[in-house]
Amino acid sequence: MARVVVIGAGLGGLPAAYELRHRLPHSHQVTLISNQPKFTFVPSLPWIGLGLKSLDRIQLELAKIVPQHGIELIYDAVTAIDPKLKQITLKDQTLDYDYVVIATGPELALDALPGLGPEGGYTQSVCNPHHALLAREAWTKFLQNPGPIVVGAAPGASCFGPAYEFALLAHHTLRQKGQRQDIPITFVTAEPYAGHLGIGGMANSRWLIRAMLADRQIDVMDNTAISHIEPNTMYLADGRSLPFQYAMILPPFRGPRFLREAPGLTDAKGFIPVLPTYRHPNFDSVYSVGVVTQLRPVEPTPIPIGVPKVGQMTEEMVMTVAHNIALDLGVISGQPIKPTLQAICFADFGDTGALFLADPLLPDQQGHRHRAFTTKGIWVSWAKTAFEKYFMDKMRVGWTMPWFERAGLRAIGLPLVEPLSADSSLHISHPIL
Ligand SMILES: Cc1cc2nc3c(=O)[nH]c(=O)nc-3n(C[C@H](O)[C@H](O)[C@H](O)COP(=O)(O)OP(=O)(O)OC[C@H]3O[C@@H](n4cnc5c(N)ncnc54)[C@H](O)[C@@H]3O)c2cc1C
Repeated sequence: MARVVVIGAGLGGLPAAYELRHRLPHSHQVTLISNQPKFTFVPSLPWIGLGLKSLDRIQLELAKIVPQHGIELIYDAVTAIDPKLKQITLKDQTLDYDYVVIATGPELALDALPGLGPEGGYTQSVCNPHHALLAREAWTKFLQNPGPIVVGAAPGASCFGPAYEFALLAHHTLRQKGQRQDIPITFVTAEPYAGHLGIGGMANSRWLIRAMLADRQIDVMDNTAISHIEPNTMYLADGRSLPFQYAMILPPFRGPRFLREAPGLTDAKGFIPVLPTYRHPNFDSVYSVGVVTQLRPVEPTPIPIGVPKVGQMTEEMVMTVAHNIALDLGVISGQPIKPTLQAICFADFGDTGALFLADPLLPDQQGHRHRAFTTKGIWVSWAKTAFEKYFMDKMRVGWTMPWFERAGLRAIGLPLVEPLSADSSLHISHPIL
């Protein structure tokens, strides 16, 4: 009997536990460890920050949905991992594992800039449920005493879509309230140009995003580094400063401390390097999915930024890891698989939305992708709402990727996973730094 432990019950960890349970006979134990009592659908957090939806609509109580599927649920935080001994330390116990799937998502590097908040700083974030609630509280106060808004992403950030979503939704909300004409909005980003998104080469996303911001009188400062933040003033590395009454700045991400402290497990930023099978190159029992997984930047940029890891890619990683662990345990036969890393992302802007598609996310050595485009329309906004509902329903009933979803995605050229080619077996995502 093997014990497979999944750390983190977010967009990667909860589906990973379901997918493993689905594939492995019950003689193998699947354990899910979460430091939160609830699953949160993170892509909807910008809506929470602006008071457009209540948090309970995008959360599920893990104790009500997980144990009934034959998955052991432990509500506790992992504080240490020893990948050599194959041992995890929790607050009150240690656990031995045969395989571990690391799905902790990011730790937010709020110390990257003086004054970056919300904790210990002056800006808001919508990267986790707690921050989204703080952002909403600050937004409610702001509406009583409005002033300039600054939205954007700090140097080193890798997640840009939600910043655009927040800026454009803030515009839409204020317009509906009749307050927009009195409130200037500025978008500040470390991306080399607005619409780069850490992906680059998205033929039309540059002009489409710029036009959307310009149409809504949102000033853009791209290729711009924030240096530090003081109450109501944001200072830029080039000496300029921006006054603000409300600011939402996405911070850089890194891997959680307990991973960074495990010798040889992560790169300098705490991200887990992986082989194409999503297994660690040096520790055979360690797999990783989601934001904590290391991906090389798509291209060098004047201000360093990271590469986004969107929900769909996380699902691809989940399917890969569950299949490859089942293969390793001899439960299934066949070839190892790898994710296609096709990235598709919906952003809601209130009266319209934008769909970004990069296939694959990481271009080949000549810089080519099969396809990459951005398109807009109100239907994207509806699709995002529908997708949230569908994903929440899947998590509630314990589905991962039902056959009709796989078939539908394959039909539109998004197969999610593919067999591992012989030449890729030695390729590591990025060298361990
Ligand atoms: C604001 C925002 C908006 C986004 N919008 C989109 C979008 O529109 N579309 C899209 O495709 N992608 C979007 N993304 C990206 C998407 O949310 C991520 O790809 C996805 O959440 C990654 O899943 P994950 O499991 O890696 O991390 P998460 O979903 O963050 O889950 C990680 C879980 O691990 C838990 N954990 C952490 N440390 C420990 C520990 N020590 N012990 C136990 N548990 C621990 C955390 O509490 C959390 O519950 C967005 C991301 C953000 C931040």
